[in-house]
Amino acid sequence: MSQIRHDWQRAEVEELFALPFNDLLFRAHSLHRQYFDPNEVQVSTLLSIKTGACPEDCAYCPQSIRYETGLETEPLMELDSVLEQARAARASGATRFCMGAAWRSPKDRDLPRLTAMVKAVRDLGLETCMTLGMLSAWQAEQLAEAGLDYYNHNLDTSPEYYRDIITTRLYQDRLDTLGHVRAAGMKVCSGGIVGMGEEVTDRAGLLQQLAILQPHPESVPINLLVRVAGTPLGDQEELDPIEFIRTIAVARILMPTSHVRLSAGREEMNEEMHALAYFAGANSIFYGEKLLTTPNPRANQDLALFSRLGIRPEQRMDSPQDPRFYNAAAAGPHISPAFVARALKRRCGGAHGLKDAEGIADTMSKRLEEVRPATASDSAAAAEGC
Ligand code: SF4
Repeated sequence: MSQIRHDWQRAEVEELFALPFNDLLFRAHSLHRQYFDPNEVQVSTLLSIKTGACPEDCAYCPQSIRYETGLETEPLMELDSVLEQARAARASGATRFCMGAAWRSPKDRDLPRLTAMVKAVRDLGLETCMTLGMLSAWQAEQLAEAGLDYYNHNLDTSPEYYRDIITTRLYQDRLDTLGHVRAAGMKVCSGGIVGMGEEVTDRAGLLQQLAILQPHPESVPINLLVRVAGTPLGDQEELDPIEFIRTIAVARILMPTSHVRLSAGREEMNEEMHALAYFAGANSIFYGEKLLTTPNPRANQDLALFSRLGIRPEQRMDSPQDPRFYNAAAAGPHISPAFVARALKRRCGGAHGLKDAEGIADTMSKRLEEVRPATASDSAAAAEGC
């Protein structure tokens, strides 16, 4: 295994960006294969639980109250509506459910409703993620106590270019929030947006900032700017797709154990670009009808491409003993020993034999039988759109 580094210098990262494309991809893909199954992609679903009317001025964002984008604002959703969406996400194969609210930061009085959402979504057997803006240490602790697995807070771009994109909060504010999330014991999801008019050095700067975090963020979303009319970046020139793929590859090299996620902007990427991104080291996508407020390729298109590429949706690996361990799209009628063996190999190296895998698979399959009636009816409900 290659050494995981946290001391990347900007110049080194720029050198990676400058490599011949084939050399860069070969290096990124080789590293990817050391740490991940190259034919698995983790699937998350994102729900906007509070939309629009955000006081911040992020130049790319249609949810800012400062820009005329025609977006309809919606207050914080009720728990039942969130759960309905989470069940549908689970039935369509998502293993992680992300809830996003357009806030500068949540108010302390919002925390009881937010923590209730976390607990209820976790009880469905989904990993949970939230993105709510800046968090205080206390807020991060409340969310962690409720069982929130991941908190998303992006750095967006390099420290230097940041001033051109957002003026209402500092880069350091973002780093502070990430620090509170880590201190509370949650996993970090943090990445940025490319195609906002930045230079290569800014893309290098963004990735370097992420790569010097200790530990690295577990999830690194790389967004391609969605040019929304009415925002300051609505007319931004399109980024060369090759530059986007380079960014994915460099992220993979700098943070070899992180999930690198294709997020916003996938609507603009054709299937060949998706395939190249998976080869370069992307191994997570947001899937479903919408990515907060911008379009996202339909879930069935993703599954069709997965099938053509021989890619499987990744199943939850955090607790193979967990009775809620379930993936409607990929688990099949029972948990197979081969699947468990793969999970054990990834988590524990060669410490477990086939007998262990068979025993665990048997236990998990029995436990699944206990929860299956609920999941089957959820799937039926989702198929009917109710
Ligand atoms: S990106 Fe987040 S903080 Fe910035 S305007 Fe949009 S919702 Fe608000």
